[in-house]
Amino acid sequence: MTSSASRTRTDAAEAVDLPHGKGLLAARDLAAGETVAVFEGPILRFADVPVEELRHVLWLDGDRWMIPLPPARWINHGCEPNCDVVDRPGDPARFDVVTLRGVRAGDELTFAYNRVDRPDELSALWHPAWTFECRCGAATCRGRIDGYELDR
Ligand SMILES: [Zn+2]
Repeated sequence: MTSSASRTRTDAAEAVDLPHGKGLLAARDLAAGETVAVFEGPILRFADVPVEELRHVLWLDGDRWMIPLPPARWINHGCEPNCDVVDRPGDPARFDVVTLRGVRAGDELTFAYNRVDRPDELSALWHPAWTFECRCGAATCRGRIDGYELDR
């Protein structure tokens, strides 16, 4: 039997308070392709998203936006992320956060907030509330994140 809580939580990640805010760490050594968290939550039109949720909101398509529930909502951005967000076949209201490579226990889990899969998505709404100075420490860190870029 699965409860709502067991869908959003996995044994792969733990939410912690980090110097830069909340984040998710690998709870154990992870292999590539493991699901570490699940994005699910209320889906709204952009105009109906509460101001205090703006920085957490996740664009689905068109004018459909998700307010992610914890713990997935605490995953931070990284310019060389160790995770990606992938569709669930047949389940358009949930997205899996999956490791792109092996991750050591205790490493922070990240995905790239600003990467999109298709060129036509580059012109999607980018709200000023999402712009930030990245301090992820990657050699290829973009610095200021203020718009979309294509996933490579
Ligand atoms: Zn960065």
